[in-house]
Amino acid sequence: QAKVSGRQRHHMFDTRQDEQMSEQQNQFKSIQDALISEQLVLFYQPKVNMRSGEIIGAEALIRWQHPERGLITPGHFLPIVEGSSLEINIGNWVIERAIKQLSDWIEHGWTMEMSINISSRHLQWHGLFDHLDRVLAKYPNVPSYLIQLEVLESSVLTDLNNISSIIKTCRHTLGLKISLDDFGTGYSSLTHLRHLPVDTVKIDQSFVRDLIDDPNDYTIIDGVIGLTDAFHHQVIAEGVETTEHGMMLLAMGCDLAQGYAIAYPMSADDCNQWFTNYQPNMQWIELANRQLN
Ligand code: C2E
Ligand code: MG
Ligand code: MG
Ligand code: MG
Repeated sequence: QAKVSGRQRHHMFDTRQDEQMSEQQNQFKSIQDALISEQLVLFYQPKVNMRSGEIIGAEALIRWQHPERGLITPGHFLPIVEGSSLEINIGNWVIERAIKQLSDWIEHGWTMEMSINISSRHLQWHGLFDHLDRVLAKYPNVPSYLIQLEVLESSVLTDLNNISSIIKTCRHTLGLKISLDDFGTGYSSLTHLRHLPVDTVKIDQSFVRDLIDDPNDYTIIDGVIGLTDAFHHQVIAEGVETTEHGMMLLAMGCDLAQGYAIAYPMSADDCNQWFTNYQPNMQWIELANRQLN
């Protein structure tokens, strides 16, 4: 009675596949709607110089403010649009929104860098240069050198020559800064770093997390700091979760940091409040002063 023929079983399988497919299409469609109906928002996470206590900038991090599901982080929806024109549309929206935000901050007297994450496909999109150029022209109080494009180390390695030349154009023609994000996870060789036309290297949070307990992570970070010194790149650590992480990094020669020990990613309003009330971490400043004596 319950025996299912091969043909029927095949049919059942197809149905399940169809369901999965239409679920993906639904998700895709709702992200498309989210962009149009302004449910996508940018949060901002400050970057500071631990030595001087200065705020040096902020990184724009996308969120989906979902009416029922609440705040959704990019890891849960960016993969769904990967490879589509929606990925490009969202990326272009991020650029415009982040530069507009920086324009507002500069207007308030808060001059700092704005870091914008760029996907590998967006970086290789033929219209990127013109889009950046157009948005920068729209906000003339934002000097291009304050805009830092964050590119994953791993994505640069997929097509080193092509991406190097795109990066060069962004730097030389537009005057933008480039940062290699999640550095250490992409297995760049020394030669690559030597030839990559970047301004900043961002040490991946996975190395920072266990810095204090894991001698291997200590050694890796120490090596990255040495390399960036030698090649005259800036270095910044992400994922600085405790004062101790920061103390260790300062002692190792990495002054720039981002992480929960400083601030969580925040809405634009919360970020404005944070800038207004900001107090540098005195333990870091005192350590920096002791190092000088
Ligand atoms: P990322 O650029 O490496 O950003 C750092 C991530 O670590 C962010 O996660 C941030 O919220 C989180 N984080 C910051 N400080 C700490 C800390 O102290 N400890 C820990 N454990 N985590 C910390 P988020 O916002 O979920 O973003 C994840 C990734 O999604 C980003 O990694 C970036 O690669 C990508 N992303 C975010 N926004 C955009 C965007 O607008 N466009 C593109 N293409 N990618 C984006
Ligand atoms: Mg980033
Ligand atoms: Mg990162
Ligand atoms: Mg990351």
